[in-house]
Amino acid sequence: MTGIRHAGRPGTWVLPLHGTTAATVRTMRRWVAQHLDTLGDEHRDDVLLVATELLANAHDHGDGPRHLQLWHSLRPCTVRVEVADRNLVQPTMGLSRLPGPRGRGLLLVDRLSVTWGVLPEPESRRKTVWAQIPCLGRCPRPGRAGEWTTGGGGGSGALAG
Ligand SMILES: [Zn+2]
Repeated sequence: MTGIRHAGRPGTWVLPLHGTTAATVRTMRRWVAQHLDTLGDEHRDDVLLVATELLANAHDHGDGPRHLQLWHSLRPCTVRVEVADRNLVQPTMGLSRLPGPRGRGLLLVDRLSVTWGVLPEPESRRKTVWAQIPCLGRCPRPGRAGEWTTGGGGGSGALAG
């Protein structure tokens, strides 16, 4: 796959995508649930909601998502979801007075995320929409082995030793 970065970081998984259909969403949800099987149900459900909205948003506004990336940090328990698509137009938060489902997805993402944003990458002719979903103490205590922590800015992971 071209253009996928950070895939070697501990706790990171990448799912290549070539579009968004109902089947893609089902595949994605199964894939996410499989990789986050150590999460508590509520945290995993929040992640699935956000991932589905980001995928739907990329389908509505983008040119078909290229990939979805997951990153699970154990301390604190946080999951970062990224969806990259080929449309450089930035998604916007929907206003409640607008009819239809468009835009409400990002309001949901905003509510469930501790932080989210859009990374335009014109040189690669793509953008990445990302969101970090906090645990809020709803997961079982993680095991000792293979722990890693979030670094500054939430963008870097480092082994905690
Ligand atoms: Zn959690």
